[in-house]
Amino acid sequence: MNKFVLASHNENKVREFRQILSSKKIVSLNDIGFKKEINETGFTLEQNALIKVREVFNFSNNISISDDSGLEIFFLDGEPGVYSSRYSGLNARPIDNINKVLKKLGDTSMRKARFRTVIAFKDTKQERLFEGVIDGKISKKIRGLSGFGYDSIFIPDQFDCTFSEMSSDLKNKISHRSLAIKKLQQFINAK
Ligand code: IMP
Repeated sequence: MNKFVLASHNENKVREFRQILSSKKIVSLNDIGFKKEINETGFTLEQNALIKVREVFNFSNNISISDDSGLEIFFLDGEPGVYSSRYSGLNARPIDNINKVLKKLGDTSMRKARFRTVIAFKDTKQERLFEGVIDGKISKKIRGLSGFGYDSIFIPDQFDCTFSEMSSDLKNKISHRSLAIKKLQQFINAK
């Protein structure tokens, strides 16, 4: 069975990848003793995913995968996008990022947004990118307590509730991340 190194220290993320890619052995950066913080200096999700996967592949000499995600709001020309986790400054709290988004949108009715994930795959022969997108809109106020990041202000299309107001099982089924992981899974299975 092939081993895949996932370029993340986040064990929740590792668990989500393991659940969907259940036939593969997924190991984390903690598992392989990779302690460095990778500088995400890219200007796009694609660039950041590639920066991470190349660094981890060079370290591990093993098939590697990485992911980068962000919230893209049309009225804000795609912001916060690649800067989602640090929208209101380095080490910003999620609530500060959310408040910045709500303030910038004000009471506009143009609240269309999407979450996007880009996964990068690298082995000795190739680099590939896989994208997952979920369309929706930004709520007028914070709704729900569960989840992380911008979950409490994102309402996916065809739903009346935010990501925070739905079960984590349902969110994980429809999320941008799971869509991208499923595309990666199809690619791996066809190899
Ligand atoms: P990452 O690339 O998965 O670490 O995501 C970067 C940032 O995007 C996170 O810190 C969150 O602010 C935001 N984000 C990505 N995915 C989600 C999600 O599923 N819900 C809420 N926020 C998310």
